[in-house]
Amino acid sequence: MAKDYYEVLGVSKTASQDEIKKAFRTLAKKYHPDANPENKEQAAEKFKEISEAYEVLSDENKRKMYDQTGRVDFGAGRSDFTWQDFSHYDDFSDLRDIFSRIFGGNFGFGGSNDFFSGMQNSGPNLDLITSVDVGLEEAYYGSIRTIKYQRNAPCQACNGTGSKDGKMVTCPTCHGSGQIRNVRGQGYFRMVSVSVCPTCNGRGTVPSQPCPVCKGRGYVTVTENLQINIPKGAQDQLRLRLRGKGQYNNGRSGDLYVILNVREPSGIQRSDDNLYVTLDISFPEAALGVKKQIKLFREEFEVNIPAGTQPNDIVRIKGKGMPHMNSGGSGDLMIRIKLIVPKHLNSAQKQLISQLLEENTKKHSWFGRS
Ligand SMILES: [Zn+2]
Ligand SMILES: [Zn+2]
Repeated sequence: MAKDYYEVLGVSKTASQDEIKKAFRTLAKKYHPDANPENKEQAAEKFKEISEAYEVLSDENKRKMYDQTGRVDFGAGRSDFTWQDFSHYDDFSDLRDIFSRIFGGNFGFGGSNDFFSGMQNSGPNLDLITSVDVGLEEAYYGSIRTIKYQRNAPCQACNGTGSKDGKMVTCPTCHGSGQIRNVRGQGYFRMVSVSVCPTCNGRGTVPSQPCPVCKGRGYVTVTENLQINIPKGAQDQLRLRLRGKGQYNNGRSGDLYVILNVREPSGIQRSDDNLYVTLDISFPEAALGVKKQIKLFREEFEVNIPAGTQPNDIVRIKGKGMPHMNSGGSGDLMIRIKLIVPKHLNSAQKQLISQLLEENTKKHSWFGRS
């Protein structure tokens, strides 16, 4: 059972989007790290909690799922919230300075998952990013893909320790602190910067005898073949997170982020989960109405074009668009009508259309002008 998001934000189960937004804004200011110098860590934890609650309750689909099942899917079935899942930085321009304090101005990749890890110097960023091109059809049905990439994986010979016999000694460079302090300037302008010790990579210890396989590094470079799940209804730029599949270093593994580039084939446009296609019809068909077959990927639909359909009219087939990724159901298939005027007519056609024109001239009206 997930946390009670309503309780976290202090709003009722029927709260409107405005109330939710207001509650988040108030709490965000309250838990600003600068407003809580004594217990920054706690405030940070709280801030992450309200952000998670906001992420869920501000999204109708996520909120519905949470209300019905008590669970949330942050993509690919994950229910554990990370900062990468927060998608509302831009909703709160007045809180921008809080977010930039937290993320160092870097809202994209390369930041760390945890609130203060940047300040704590927890070591190098071990996350990896790769991207995969996915066809719209593949996203429509969902699929399993194998991706190939290189990463530093734990050395099997030494269990990732880098030590031949498992013994470690205190790092001679940092004397066990894992950090190097650099002091620059003088007087009032002293600037102290702390960086990760390059000898031990922040661990504070080094192998007494380096492992011969990895030369004491604890990791080896391998090529991974990883199966990933392309979820049904995957959106363009969707980020899948594969825990522990990033770089390994010093007993820690980063995550692998796979960004999906969902490509639309020619002739199909996607807008959220609605799909737009164009259907050519003739004037008599538009005037009299007609039934047409529409093919979409592996599906075929019969669509009823009503009499009197106008150019650029849209005929909607409900629930036949892209599947919604996080909730059940699908968007709609929108068929845009294109009226084709023939460039060449045979004599019989010419005669019929002339007759039609005459008929209309007689009545001093033309179709659509009544
Ligand atoms: Zn060291
Ligand atoms: Zn090794």
